[in-house]
Amino acid sequence: MTDTDPRAARLRGFGTTVFAEMSALAASTGAVNLGQGFPDTDGPSEVLEAAVAAIRDGANQYPPGDGIPSLRRAIAEHQRRFYGLDLDPDSEVLVTTGATEAIAAALLGLLDPGDEVVVFEPMFDTYAAGVAMAGAVVVPVLLAPDAQGRFRFDPDELTAAVGPRTRVILLNTPHNPTGKVFTADEMDLLAETARRHDLIVITDEVYEHLVFPGHRHVPMATLPGMAERTLTISSAGKTFRTTGWKIGWVTGPTPLVTAVRTAKQYLTYVSGAPFQPAIAVGLALDDAFFAGLGPDMADRAARLGEGLRAAGLVVHPPEATYFTTVDVRPLRPDGDGHAFCLELPERCGVVAIPNAVFYERPEHGRHLVRFACCKTDSVLDEAVERLAALGR
Ligand code: PMP
Repeated sequence: MTDTDPRAARLRGFGTTVFAEMSALAASTGAVNLGQGFPDTDGPSEVLEAAVAAIRDGANQYPPGDGIPSLRRAIAEHQRRFYGLDLDPDSEVLVTTGATEAIAAALLGLLDPGDEVVVFEPMFDTYAAGVAMAGAVVVPVLLAPDAQGRFRFDPDELTAAVGPRTRVILLNTPHNPTGKVFTADEMDLLAETARRHDLIVITDEVYEHLVFPGHRHVPMATLPGMAERTLTISSAGKTFRTTGWKIGWVTGPTPLVTAVRTAKQYLTYVSGAPFQPAIAVGLALDDAFFAGLGPDMADRAARLGEGLRAAGLVVHPPEATYFTTVDVRPLRPDGDGHAFCLELPERCGVVAIPNAVFYERPEHGRHLVRFACCKTDSVLDEAVERLAALGR
């Protein structure tokens, strides 16, 4: 081996993910880890017990590649119950190894080299890597805070981003890392753009049930003429606080789901057998369970947001998700969010993620930092108390 980088050209520029780097920093410094978005309490006991029972009952060999029938039926029923969408569980639903695999398999299954994918930035970090692995090209459209601190895009930038090579709009709503819920008007404009240019929309809706009071999640597939051109991706991880189980799914018209399945069968072939019946139990939980998730997370975000504001940071109030984005410039006039995150464990014993890693054009997010609020009250209070040291 020579000492040159052995990585394929399309993966150069993708180093270790920042989540691994910052989680290691949290572990080595004993800091409160508000970097990676994972809850620190278990999800509903019915769901956990169903997985234990499934292991005891022998659900330990390869399940069907599409996912077990009871989970596919539960996913279809969930889409009907919450959004009025009608899906055939046999051909229009595919279980994946987390939303992560669903995103990668959708991109690999649909894109040819040189195809263009319009993506809003900041974007969840697997999107750019998935597009690159498919040999395709990301065309970013910026989400920037307006005068009220709400992240918005410029419709003219969207129009300019769509060209003859555009194949897919890759959307994420509710949005990580900004906590934005795309509004009905924004969704209409996106749908209209997709219909006019005959584009496929891949929509990552993993935070669909973590929407704060006063905001509403509109699934792209529910808009006129969109069900036939939309692949909807979601995951059990956020809704049931089972991020380590890696059960996700894709729903959409048969030809699009078939494209995803074609890639998925050669990536993982099948996904976690004993977790699938457990998530089928979770998806059938009553309305009160799902209705409680958003308000609960909103309270946590408010608790953390108050502490971040008191520490002197500018908070962009989230409308959903596990995350709060802040502007570090009041505390760090040079606006270097990455340096801020590297220093934070030593300065006050807290770990966060620099938003620059979520941008194709990192200069737009250089001054922004993301904190996770999906933690117990005592952990959030401890973090807030530590953050107060920044303001002193
Ligand atoms: N999409 C978004 C927007 C996410 O935030 C995450 C998890 N952080 C994922 C996808 C990945 O989901 P999963 O763990 O189910 O692979």
